[in-house]
Amino acid sequence: MKDTFGNFEWKDIGDIELGRPAMGEKMHVAVYRMFHYSLRSVLEKSYGKEAVKHNLVEAGRLAGREFCEHVLDLSLPPADFFRLLRQNMAELGIGILEIEHADFDNMIFILKVSEDLDCSGVPVTGETTCNYDEGLIMGILEVYTGRKFIVKETDCWSTGDWTCRFHVVAI
Ligand SMILES: [Zn+2]
Repeated sequence: MKDTFGNFEWKDIGDIELGRPAMGEKMHVAVYRMFHYSLRSVLEKSYGKEAVKHNLVEAGRLAGREFCEHVLDLSLPPADFFRLLRQNMAELGIGILEIEHADFDNMIFILKVSEDLDCSGVPVTGETTCNYDEGLIMGILEVYTGRKFIVKETDCWSTGDWTCRFHVVAI
């Protein structure tokens, strides 16, 4: 598969401290979801559901790669790396990460994210919705391990579950 990482870089986020001295770096989950779901909705109208899913995974993957390189510590052994990831995901309000299964020999993982930023509390549609998160996990693990992965969300708030569950397999 050809890598198309695009132009997004960590520096594009800018200097938030400088730019928002009074407002600070926090905002409401509703604002994030308003952006995410309205953008998704207009893109689906133009390009169709499947194409948008694919592109959300790619966007998450790009973000995950930059996030891993600039926020996480690649020199850490797996247990510490996941601990740091869990800590960052909690601090940034992405969700509460739990590693249900980690097999580094075969590169198979099951990750659970509770109170997920993208979906927790959304209406149940019967379809998983955290495609961006699938990409985020993919990008992070790609950078950390140097391997490529398939990430599939199997449980989601939108499928009537209380947490999101991601099955991760190296390819
Ligand atoms: Zn979900």
